[in-house]
Amino acid sequence: GIYGHFSPAPLVPPTDYPFYAARAKGAKFWDIDGNEFVDYMCAYGPMVLGYAHPKVEEAARRANMSGSTLSAPGPVMVELAEYLVDMVTIANWAFFAKNGGDVTNYAIMVARSATGRRKVVMFSGGYHGVQPWMQAPGHHGVQEEDYRDIIRIHWNRFEELEKAVSENPGQIAALISTPYHHPTFVDNEMPAEGFWKKVEALCKKEGIVLILDDVRCGFRLDLRGSNEFFGFKPDLICFCKAIGNGHPISALVGTEALKAEVARVFHTGSYWYQSSPMAAALACLKELKRINAPKVIQAKGKKMLDGLVDIASGYGYTLKVTGSPAMPYLRITDDESLMLHQDWCAECTKRGAYFTSHHNWFVSAAHTDADIKKTWNIADEAFKVVKKKYS
Ligand code: PMP
Repeated sequence: GIYGHFSPAPLVPPTDYPFYAARAKGAKFWDIDGNEFVDYMCAYGPMVLGYAHPKVEEAARRANMSGSTLSAPGPVMVELAEYLVDMVTIANWAFFAKNGGDVTNYAIMVARSATGRRKVVMFSGGYHGVQPWMQAPGHHGVQEEDYRDIIRIHWNRFEELEKAVSENPGQIAALISTPYHHPTFVDNEMPAEGFWKKVEALCKKEGIVLILDDVRCGFRLDLRGSNEFFGFKPDLICFCKAIGNGHPISALVGTEALKAEVARVFHTGSYWYQSSPMAAALACLKELKRINAPKVIQAKGKKMLDGLVDIASGYGYTLKVTGSPAMPYLRITDDESLMLHQDWCAECTKRGAYFTSHHNWFVSAAHTDADIKKTWNIADEAFKVVKKKYS
């Protein structure tokens, strides 16, 4: 009964993973059998300040007590929009929805409406949600016409973008991409030197709307938008996950040039004007700024990862870390099948450090030194077990 990316099989050995979480606090959660886990998935990204964060929960509670889903939006929508516009460099306006896929899809609609073009370039292995056009060709329920206008190119291959542009003159509405490449099952890749600048310049020259899908990286790399971390300027940015520390809200922000267009493109949902997630997001963003969260989270991630790599090497293993330390992807090398890595992750999870083997992990501001030490001890035990099993 557990669907999508939370489904325990076949991605993890079901015998070693908890299925249902009963409660959570800080960087930990407890399953329904009372087992405790230091959580390195952070609800797959939304948890950034710690579960049940008092400031965020108080803001949400107050909003709920005064009525949250009403017949008109609350003023908190304007406050949140203003706060985001001040925080995110390229933003001149903000639009709110619920899920990441709501705003990645909306961004494409806005780009198509603004350009009068149909085609969209994306990177193979990139994930933007579950609308049929976003899913990989061949997925069940996806029709050929759903992805007829999607051009898939390889990450960091600028020449493939040039080729797509020259083969589809005046037809490409948008390029959508995450700030760096974080697919599942393979090492994550940072942008090559100069890649984003070249992409930005070509999009500008060709009138292609550059959409940054910052749903996963957003607020973990740079509070001004992850593009600032890599030094480029998109036209639209999609946020979700960490924006509300677990409360259901996503946002699309964009430049002045697209403001009139976004006002024309119809998009809405039953709960999209709900005040309480907006109040939670406002409290979350203020707290992220107050503690300079990206710096804190990246430092905690680096410390934890450096320790894990050392422990691995003590057992003769190379633990390869790619991506940002705030969102690392790990893999034990010299094991093409990934089974050794999957076993190690399962042994860690069984002992209370919740790791997945196929997806990047997430670090939060709530991970304490004690959590990290406990993680190291668990990782050590788990290496001992897999070493015995595989030697
Ligand atoms: N884009 C990226 C980069 C994501 O990681 C995700 C969610 N994993 C989405 C879009 C879709 O977000 P949601 O599942 O909230 O629709």
